[in-house]
Amino acid sequence: MLRQVADGVLVHESAFVQSNAVVVQGRAGVLLIDPGVTGSEIDCLADDLRELGQPVVAGFSTHPDWDHLLWHARLGVAPRYGTARCAAAIGEELSDPGAKARIAEHLLETEVAGQVPLDLLGLITGLPAETRQIPWDGPPVRIIEHKAHAPGHAALLIEDHGVLVAGDMLSDVLVPMLDLAAAEPIEDYLAALRLLEGVLDDVEVVVPGHGSVGRADQVSARIELDRAYVLALRDGQGAGDPRIGSSARPGWEWVSDVHFGQAQHLGL
Ligand SMILES: [Zn+2]
Repeated sequence: MLRQVADGVLVHESAFVQSNAVVVQGRAGVLLIDPGVTGSEIDCLADDLRELGQPVVAGFSTHPDWDHLLWHARLGVAPRYGTARCAAAIGEELSDPGAKARIAEHLLETEVAGQVPLDLLGLITGLPAETRQIPWDGPPVRIIEHKAHAPGHAALLIEDHGVLVAGDMLSDVLVPMLDLAAAEPIEDYLAALRLLEGVLDDVEVVVPGHGSVGRADQVSARIELDRAYVLALRDGQGAGDPRIGSSARPGWEWVSDVHFGQAQHLGL
C-alpha cells in the first residue's frame, strides 16, 4: 500500500527490514527509488501505480546493495539510474557469473528466501560524476553523493517537497552500517553526516532506506544519534545506543550483532 509522506511523494513499505520504496510524482509518470524487496510486494506496488494511472518513467538505486537494486518486468522499461560509483560497484560484482547465485544463497538465511526477483537486479546506468540532479520530467531531485555505508551512496533531496531520501542512513532502527571495505570508514561516515546536516534547513521529512519516516524535528536528532554512534564506535564504546541491546525495538535485536561485528572488524 502506498502512503503519502509529502505532497507528490509516497512510500511503499516492505515487511523485510522495514524497507522503504519511494515514489515521486512527475508530469508523465513517477520516479521510483529503491523499488522494494519481494516479488509480491513489487507486484502490489505495480498495482498501486496502475490504479493511480502513473507509469514508472525513471528508477534510481541509492546504493549498490541487493535490497536497493531490484526491479520487476511489471515496473516497465524506464531508465534506471545510480551514481557512477554505484553502477561501477554493482557492474563489477555482476561481472562474476556466480554473483546472483551467491545473493540467492545469502537470502536463504532470511525470511524472504526464494521470494526476491533477482533477474533484473542491478541493471542501472551510472550518472556521470558531478551530476547534480536525476534526469527526469518531474520535481528536481538533488543527488547528494558520499561514501558512507557503500561506494557511490546517494541521498536524494526532493527540494520542492522538503523530502530527504536517506538510503541506508538516518534510520530509527538500524545503527550506522559502515563501509568496512573502505580505507576510512569512520571518516567517510562523519563526512556524509555533515553533508546531510548541510541541507537540514530544506528538509521536512526524512525517509530512511529502512525504518520509520521521520518529521522535521526528528531529522537533526537522527543525524546526532548516528554521529554519536560513529564517534562512540571510533572511541571503542557504543553500547548505549537505543537501537542496540535491551532498548532495541522488538524484532531488531540482531542489530546488536551488526554493532559488535563492526566494532570487532575495526579492532576496537
Ligand atoms: Zn538496505
